[in-house]
Amino acid sequence: MFLKRLSRGYLVGKDPNAPLFYREEGNKKFQKKDYMGATVLYSKGVSHSRPNSEDISLCYANRSAALFHLGQYETCLKDIVRAQTHGYPERLQPKLLLRKAECLVTLGRPHEASQTISDLESNFAAKPTLAASQFQVLQRTLCRLKVKVQEKENLTETSPAALTKALEDMDLREENEQISSTSSSVSLCTDPLKGRCLVATKDILPGELLVKEDAFVSVLNPGEMPPWHRGLESKWDTRATNGDLYCHRCLKHTLAPVPCDGCSYAKYCSQECLQQAWDLYHSIECSLGGLLLTLGVFCHIALRSTLLARFEEAGKVINKLCGEITNRDTCLPESKNLAQILSYDLGGESKNKGKTVETPIPGCDINGKYENNYNAVFSLLPHTGNHSPVHKFLCALSVSALCRQLEAASLQAFTTGLRSSKLKAAAAPVLYPELNIWGVAMLRHMLQLQCNAQAITTIQQTGSEKNLITNSRQVRLATGLFPVVSLLNHSCSPNTSVSFISTVATVRASQQIKKGQEILHCYGPHESRMGVAERRQKLRSQYFFDCNCPPCEREKQRPSQGPGREAFCCHRCRALLQGYDVLSCGSTSCTESVSRDHLVSQLQDLQQQVGMARKLLRNGELERAIQLLLGCRHAAESFLLAEHSVVGGIEDDLAQAYAASGDWEKSAAHLQKSLRVVEVRHGPTSVEMGHELFKLAQIFFNGFAIPEALNTIQQAEKVLLVHYGPWNDEIQELQKMKSCLLDLPPILVGPNQ
Ligand SMILES: [Zn+2]
Ligand SMILES: [Zn+2]
Ligand SMILES: [Zn+2]
Ligand SMILES: [Zn+2]
Repeated sequence: MFLKRLSRGYLVGKDPNAPLFYREEGNKKFQKKDYMGATVLYSKGVSHSRPNSEDISLCYANRSAALFHLGQYETCLKDIVRAQTHGYPERLQPKLLLRKAECLVTLGRPHEASQTISDLESNFAAKPTLAASQFQVLQRTLCRLKVKVQEKENLTETSPAALTKALEDMDLREENEQISSTSSSVSLCTDPLKGRCLVATKDILPGELLVKEDAFVSVLNPGEMPPWHRGLESKWDTRATNGDLYCHRCLKHTLAPVPCDGCSYAKYCSQECLQQAWDLYHSIECSLGGLLLTLGVFCHIALRSTLLARFEEAGKVINKLCGEITNRDTCLPESKNLAQILSYDLGGESKNKGKTVETPIPGCDINGKYENNYNAVFSLLPHTGNHSPVHKFLCALSVSALCRQLEAASLQAFTTGLRSSKLKAAAAPVLYPELNIWGVAMLRHMLQLQCNAQAITTIQQTGSEKNLITNSRQVRLATGLFPVVSLLNHSCSPNTSVSFISTVATVRASQQIKKGQEILHCYGPHESRMGVAERRQKLRSQYFFDCNCPPCEREKQRPSQGPGREAFCCHRCRALLQGYDVLSCGSTSCTESVSRDHLVSQLQDLQQQVGMARKLLRNGELERAIQLLLGCRHAAESFLLAEHSVVGGIEDDLAQAYAASGDWEKSAAHLQKSLRVVEVRHGPTSVEMGHELFKLAQIFFNGFAIPEALNTIQQAEKVLLVHYGPWNDEIQELQKMKSCLLDLPPILVGPNQ
């Protein structure tokens, strides 16, 4: 397990031998579509260069050029400033200033642009460093820019569109007094069987925001390296993982990350995030990078939680706890003592008979308030008795490896700190005497994570740049701990939807919730994705409980052989086939029968063919892909129900292939068939349905089918609003499409709208 992670080959620590082929600006000719790759390449250069060196300033400058070509002017400007603060060479200044002026003009900031132009002119007058021919080009560009500036100066300056405002604008209608980050429509209760739970205190409508909670702690998942595909010449590795594309602190997507000064792994969206991360945890994590990557995300979260606890009053939780236990049982050997802290159930009932319990609900403070803090995190159940011995052993091993390294690092920081007054890891020496307690706390967090870790997801566009059509899919971006979201219990058919902006989780009602009903979310095994047996097995092995939600109870009463929609049908009359080893036609007038083995192997063949077609599609061989997919669909019709997920997948692929070849009408026809499968499987108001409707709206929009597009946009908006709220990217896109269509002259829109 460890070796596999290591072989991923992250370079942690600056690598002085990293190839600096990205030095000279302009000596690599990138084609337009390669600018994306170029930003990745220069980001890698930035990560491996020392701060305040010519190398790093050139990398920033080169990345600004790539960003300029990508139309990312705001980000380009930031990189220009970075290049300059890291000592960009004087002789190259004119190029950079020119780019800056172009950006400012395009962004509609004419005053700043004309300031930059006059800087450029005086810079040039003072030290004429360019050749005559270059000088002429520069002069011409300057003239052009000046004209543009004058044009823009007559218009009003536009304020930069700040989408980050989204979070502030999105508010709980009325904040709960008992539970932080929660609406007043719910309250915290305890149930002898389920433990803590949230219950509606009034009738809740679909789409109502119930919880908006920032993660107590989150750690970016490093992500897998995507497979090689031909982009730039193969000696330049332009592949990027999540670790290269998202801020390690706030998880925002960024094309121009700022790396940590001390390692090549941690990267941030801005100097502010870099500083925050350093102050809160990275000063200690920085030297542990390689080990943390090896040990995995859970171990990383355990460490970071403990580091964050230092900044809170609740950091005393552990100390207090240790004090309580040692006072009570002073004769306990140390090992037993530690075991008690590990499995200690804060405010637990029967186990601590001698102790009076002041807090009625675990995790609450003495006033009964439950907050997003370390006290609440510490109270999450570790399920010490349920984990397998192997799991517990591996957790302990990881934590002790981490402790040893921490000890070594803090000793080193202490001794170098004595010698030089410039003490970088100021917190480290303080850390040393507390290591034992920290180890115990980290082990407790490791054990908590199996049941309490929350995946932070995002919708990511996939597909190569040369393909017009990209697919979007949900990816796990990071793992975090959300003490309030953790209060929600599981249902295989939940009444809420969870989504994320940056590190903030939002929980919305996905249907009407009556007063007194419990607020539930799905831990993963959803009714529409797995059969009852598989769900129950998953929940038992990972979360240690037997689900008795309504769908589970219902399916337990009438055990069916797998989800009905995934069944086979008779090739003669298309009626449902029934039975176990040998299936016979359900229609009374038909005598067809067939063995299950035969059907299963037929399905496997089909899936293989579909896989081949997808490969063709990815490589842009559209005609061959379409032929193969049409064959697959014909084969599928002979033995699968129309609502079978494989049939839906084939229709979706066909829609994609036709869209890529510009045949929007055929694309829409196939997508509508795929949509019907999604509707049957997930329901008409499901988030899956929302994504499909969004795709269909895009197809209609591109195909200029205006009434259909407007109609579909409206449906998609309605579904997505309930799950995500108004600030979702897809909803924003839908609104742009709508206003674009409504701006068209009425003669084009037709009489229907
Ligand atoms: Zn950030
Ligand atoms: Zn670092
Ligand atoms: Zn269930
Ligand atoms: Zn039949």
